[in-house]
Amino acid sequence: MTTKANIIIIEDEKNICSFIERILEPQGYRISSAYTGKEGLQLITSAHPDVILLDLGLPDIDGLEIIERVRSWSNVPIIVISARTMEKSKVTALDLGADDYLTKPFGTAELMARIRTALRHSQNRASTQSSKYEVGDLLIDFERRLVKMKDQEIHLTQIEYKLVSLLAQNAGKVMTYESIITKIWGPYADSDNQILRVNMAHIRRKLEENPAEPKYIFTEIGVGYRMRED
Ligand code: CA
Repeated sequence: MTTKANIIIIEDEKNICSFIERILEPQGYRISSAYTGKEGLQLITSAHPDVILLDLGLPDIDGLEIIERVRSWSNVPIIVISARTMEKSKVTALDLGADDYLTKPFGTAELMARIRTALRHSQNRASTQSSKYEVGDLLIDFERRLVKMKDQEIHLTQIEYKLVSLLAQNAGKVMTYESIITKIWGPYADSDNQILRVNMAHIRRKLEENPAEPKYIFTEIGVGYRMRED
């Protein structure tokens, strides 16, 4: 099973949100919309987007501030959408870490092209070492978002996949609970490890023959997790 890319739209003009949804949903993307900056930030920490489409002119929080906040903990591609044609806000948005810029009104082809580019960039960033993790009977294909155990596809939730691929891309290294939580759930997440433990238990049930004696993802007690390297 390939996991569909998850896109968040933060935009107070509802007709623009629905315009974008109508374009992207038939392409198989999963879309969530937020109409305020506050809702948007909550959505970013809960929905784990692959791309964020962000309007700069929001009623509560300035879009530039949202970029700044998101960039303090995430490299998720941000495409700014705005009616502001001023050169200054474009540059500021990009300086703050936005990846691309769309000026309203924009067309279907332009939107699709920007999204494809953003997804390609995020995949390249994620797979700097290798596009695959192959250890023992476990295969993870990062490009296709596919996980197989002994040639059988393993069905992971979005969050389980993100956890497994994060650990696999850092195979051999101990990843602390805190760094994992920050990378997956963001800095606004509860700092207790309960949600991480629960997800890890589910992952082990799916990946490990005997979850009590894991062969792929090891617990470093009191520290974090380490994924087998070879
Ligand atoms: Ca607006």
